[in-house]
Amino acid sequence: MNEDDVLVFKDYHVPRVCAKCGKANPDYKGVGEYKCSECGFTMYDDFGVVRNYLEAHAGATQAQVSRETGVAMDTIRQFLKEERLEIAAGSAVMMTCEICNAPIRSGRYCPECARVVNKRVEEEKKASGAKKQSMQGYVKSIHLDKGEYRFKR
Ligand SMILES: [Zn+2]
Ligand SMILES: [Zn+2]
Repeated sequence: MNEDDVLVFKDYHVPRVCAKCGKANPDYKGVGEYKCSECGFTMYDDFGVVRNYLEAHAGATQAQVSRETGVAMDTIRQFLKEERLEIAAGSAVMMTCEICNAPIRSGRYCPECARVVNKRVEEEKKASGAKKQSMQGYVKSIHLDKGEYRFKR
């Protein structure tokens, strides 16, 4: 986890005690759902709350979800970035590509920019590989020179 994630999730709410009977540490059931081992009461963290809301209100905007659920906009945006949530087809656009601002449904980039970004990463990888190789070549030529020197002597 980098600093950005911590910052974004400073407002992230997770149920720590049962809202019904007060028992601590409800069991995590997955996809943001928690269940009290004592009374069986079901609770949700911010992700569960947002997910439930979107299931019932497909097409809601990010601002609407935040207003209705009380979950911070930044937290919702982080879910979308992590692709934990995807905006339903045909719903109001909630995300934009970080590079060209094209509307997207999840992640950080539109397919077009994602391809460019991936290509750049690949090229950087290749470039650092090539650098290593040329250094190896350099080392080899030093050995060769030494050998020649010795031979002449
Ligand atoms: Zn309980
Ligand atoms: Zn883009």
